Amino acid sequence: MFNLKGISLLEIIRMRLKILSCFAFCTLIVCSETAVGDTPALDNDKPTAIAVEGGSKLIEGGWYNFVNGLGTDDRAAPTLPADDDILFDARSTSSFAPRLAPISGARKALVIIVEWDGDASNPPVLADVSRDEAKSWVDEYATPYFQLISRGLFQGWQTTAAGPYLIRSPKLARSICDDSWRIYLAGEADAAARSVGINPDSFDNIIYYNSHTNACPRGNAELGGKRAWLDGLWNDEDYLVTHELGHNLGVHHSHGTRCVDVSGAPVPFSANCMQVDYEDRYSVMGRALPLPYNVLAAQHLNTLGWFFKQGDLENIVFDPRRPPTHYYLAPLEQQSSPVLKALKIVNGETTFWVEYRQSASPWSPGLIIRREDPVDGKTFLLDMHPGGSSGFVDAPLAAGETWTYGAGAMSIFFRGVVNGYASISVSSTYTALLNVVGTDVIAAIQRLRTAGFNVINWTSKIDRSCNYIDLVMSQWPTAGTRSPSDTNVRLTVGVKPSGRNVCP
Ligand SMILES: [Zn+2]
Repeated sequence: MFNLKGISLLEIIRMRLKILSCFAFCTLIVCSETAVGDTPALDNDKPTAIAVEGGSKLIEGGWYNFVNGLGTDDRAAPTLPADDDILFDARSTSSFAPRLAPISGARKALVIIVEWDGDASNPPVLADVSRDEAKSWVDEYATPYFQLISRGLFQGWQTTAAGPYLIRSPKLARSICDDSWRIYLAGEADAAARSVGINPDSFDNIIYYNSHTNACPRGNAELGGKRAWLDGLWNDEDYLVTHELGHNLGVHHSHGTRCVDVSGAPVPFSANCMQVDYEDRYSVMGRALPLPYNVLAAQHLNTLGWFFKQGDLENIVFDPRRPPTHYYLAPLEQQSSPVLKALKIVNGETTFWVEYRQSASPWSPGLIIRREDPVDGKTFLLDMHPGGSSGFVDAPLAAGETWTYGAGAMSIFFRGVVNGYASISVSSTYTALLNVVGTDVIAAIQRLRTAGFNVINWTSKIDRSCNYIDLVMSQWPTAGTRSPSDTNVRLTVGVKPSGRNVCP
């Protein structure tokens, strides 16, 4: 019953997975995989649902509905770096710091369909979409998406579609499918638009679309700039346009990160990590789930100024000596919730972001923990269950679990879900020092050692109060000080003053 043109659904899914594995904005070399047979007609049918293998459950509306158990994050790393869908960084020097004023109001978008005739060695590239369809990518997905995640602050785009315009035929050799080629295309397309009375300068964003060249990355955008380029239909233009417009608004990618400890064992985070391209299923800037699960990473929402309400975000400078602090986080998908939505935790040189996501079956619910890239504002999803076969599907920290990391042993404990909110403790593995003042010195030493502390020495001091004779008079660090377990403790023990009858 799942046959389509003689191809089983499973085969289609696998073919799509193979296509997906090269991923949306991949390099030319990797994208050569996209020549996998003739992509089945399904790819141009804009299905709203894809079956999940091993179950009858249908997940609405997503291109990135990966089949459970067939996740691709264990694939070999691409041979060229990711992030090549970004043409250049047009942001200010303070790049990804939160904007002083949030992005708000409405903008104007122009979608230009471009085509060109061939030459002696290259076929023509003719339009394969209508203006209405091209316009719908912005109007029916990108605009509602950004309206939702900005909580109505940003109204999205008023869209005009133009073309198709025939431009001078460029060679289609891969070597020219580069940034200079995209700028050439934009210039020609802009000129064609002007010739019919459309002024590209009057638009905030311009998207240039051409049919498949089988040579170019699928999408490109100016980071913090105005222009984006799409190469061919992949049945996910709504997603792709939203992703590229996200770049234009000023946010970078959401990748995964895979790390090992000094022995080579997988860990959620360490000093030895590699980027796993786009492997963040919880953001449209990564390998996105359908709405509402592809809300931007909290860090990126903050960059765009959309954590604009007091109490949206808690800034924490981690100090292991502080007592545990307890937070409740609303699911980030619940944009209207008045409750805290994210923690930003600065731990020495590293900044982590913590948010809570509800179930997006088959992907795990839980705490999403990411590292902030201090250079360009990318986000890196940490896999809290590294090394398994499930890849990043189980990346979130589950209820009842604790993740401990680094100097000071930062500890994030997901206590559980209370009335729909994630209950979280941020603490360290430091423990409060026992109070041994007033106790027998031998017993004090034993108690401290049992608790993991070291007593390196104890000194005598005349106790004129006579209250601490042979007892601990004082301790350093003082009782209650949160300390690592091997902290050295010094004790002072009272002795009798000299002379008769001084103490009873
Ligand atoms: Zn991108």
